[in-house]
Amino acid sequence: MKFRLFAAAAAVFMATSAAAAPVLAPPPILGPDVQAFVKVQGGRIAISHVRVIDGTGAAAVEDQTILIDGARIAAMQPASSAIPADYRVIDGSGETVIPGLVGMHNHLFYLQRPNLDPSGHFEQPIIIPQMTFSAPRLYLANGVTTMRTTGSVETYTDLALKREIDAGHLVGPHLDVTGPYLEGAGAFFIQNHVITSPDDARKEVAFWADQGVNSFKAYMNISRAELGAAIKEAHRRGLKVTGHLCSVTYPEAIALGIDDLEHGFFVNTQLDPGKQPDKCPDTAGDPTITAMTPGSPEATALIKLLVDRHVAITSTLPVFEQSVPLHSPLQARQMDVLSPQAKESYLYSRNRVNSRAGTPAGAAEALMYKNDLGLERQFVAAGGLLIAGPDPTGNGGTIPGFADQREVELLVEAGFTPVEAIRIATLNGATYLGLADRIGSIAPGKNADLIVIRGNPAANIADIEKVDTVLKDGVGYDTEKLLDSVRGRFGQY
Ligand SMILES: [Zn+2]
Repeated sequence: MKFRLFAAAAAVFMATSAAAAPVLAPPPILGPDVQAFVKVQGGRIAISHVRVIDGTGAAAVEDQTILIDGARIAAMQPASSAIPADYRVIDGSGETVIPGLVGMHNHLFYLQRPNLDPSGHFEQPIIIPQMTFSAPRLYLANGVTTMRTTGSVETYTDLALKREIDAGHLVGPHLDVTGPYLEGAGAFFIQNHVITSPDDARKEVAFWADQGVNSFKAYMNISRAELGAAIKEAHRRGLKVTGHLCSVTYPEAIALGIDDLEHGFFVNTQLDPGKQPDKCPDTAGDPTITAMTPGSPEATALIKLLVDRHVAITSTLPVFEQSVPLHSPLQARQMDVLSPQAKESYLYSRNRVNSRAGTPAGAAEALMYKNDLGLERQFVAAGGLLIAGPDPTGNGGTIPGFADQREVELLVEAGFTPVEAIRIATLNGATYLGLADRIGSIAPGKNADLIVIRGNPAANIADIEKVDTVLKDGVGYDTEKLLDSVRGRFGQY
């Protein structure tokens, strides 16, 4: 009798969740197209004399040896301890090992504006091109070992990419594939199903859950009833829902049970004047972030609500940095991976942003950015789960992988310590995904998903850019080879 009950329960479980492949697939046998980028073959490896930043927020530990056995971390010990005889030793003197980044707002596409001209004018329809070739390589090269796609345009393509990576046929990070944007009428790009009712939202979630997506993202023009129906259906299947919202305010989404809110505090519309229920105002949250200064009663009330209801916030500073006049330009190595058209489009947009320097519009952008930094700090201080991702869209200056590193640097500029910022970009993401027992920090038994860095990001966070090797499932990938393979490609395919 007991067995029959168990069998029935198992059948129900299979029916509702067999479709999605796990974010962390078992380590594959690597095919030739992946082997081409392997620098350190898997097996028993000892990386000796390294500084370790373990991802928990703890201080860096000097002069350690990390023992890796196959896909897993076997041990971490002082470099003075004996290394077992059958381990290959790699001398990591002068280097630092941190956990692989867990990118939580990392797209597999790129925003191109048709016929963009220097004045910033472009034409509709916007067709968002897939970067299925270049984006996975850029992410892995720069240390992203797990990422959420956070809204898909070609969902079947993203699912197929995940399958091919998990099978060892293509190179790239572990993927949490997010379904198509859950969006009502008024989306700014055309490749999107338009949700017309709560039942339609439920059906959309059910369909894509059956196709195997790992998560969902609601978008700017969804109604409260549609969002509620989508969340209910996703939760019934054990899947989480995040949102880049506008028509629905943060407090409304929290009440509906959303799991995560994208873009820090930039896109909350609760204080936008004249906000109509279920309508995205033209102001799209600018008045709210401008008014909601850190520590204000409104901010404190919202943050309490988020923390009490365990709603995560995704920090996406690199894409917003691009709107602040006179922000840091792209480095030569980043310009190098852009296609000629992507370069041109980025330079037009950058020029437009910089031409606002010294104007009220420029100052308004800078104030919103400053308020968001303070709110993200207040959220973490109150016990909130802050996770991180770059959002490679915007004006084209947010490049996969490079911008994941930039996010960590900007968190440090916001006032977090380097080890706190690294935790936000590693263990916090793993915690949100329910994978903190497998990834996100350096500990025995966890996946050997690691970044070996030439330098010391605990002392100088910009050293996070000096990636030597990225290990995924205990196999070391060659950053330079991966970057070489996409030179001039990003923006094209
Ligand atoms: Zn995005």
